Amino acid sequence: MKRLLLCLIPALAPSAPALAADHGHSHGAHQHGSAKLEVVIDGTALHIRLESPLDSVLGFEHAPGNAKEKAAVARMKELLGQGDKLFGPTTAAQCRFAGATVEAPVLEGQSVAAKGDGHGDLDADFRFICAQPGKLTGMEVRLPEHFPRMRGIDAQVAGPRGQSAKRLSGKMRFLNW
Ligand SMILES: [Zn+2]
Repeated sequence: MKRLLLCLIPALAPSAPALAADHGHSHGAHQHGSAKLEVVIDGTALHIRLESPLDSVLGFEHAPGNAKEKAAVARMKELLGQGDKLFGPTTAAQCRFAGATVEAPVLEGQSVAAKGDGHGDLDADFRFICAQPGKLTGMEVRLPEHFPRMRGIDAQVAGPRGQSAKRLSGKMRFLNW
């Protein structure tokens, strides 16, 4: 029952204050429909780290058990490997997608219940190298367009002008710094 509750609450009211207070790592559970994004600008490099419940990018959180689920995992990995589709840094900065690494232990059949609650997370790192980093002032985040289950993204930026945070969604796609 606990799992069912966790899956339903974010869908009803993703931004209700009462839920915001409950948001975080205190009890180890993640929120379906939500994801976290950490953006670091360091010289010519733009690093983006995505932490998401597998549910938000895949729709399930267990090792793929049949052909349909295996195909879904392959599609997800292919999409995550296309960082320039998912993120649009300032065009004038001439950023080139330089690669991604994706980790999802559950999908590899490791620790099926790592947290003991049947949930599974995905971590993905995306790297861009920018020819004109001085012109890099923001980024369009298109994750909800490609992963419709991802309704809210808590983004944090550490850039040349300090740190900032913003909640993104399918409608709020632009992160500026
Ligand atoms: Zn979950």
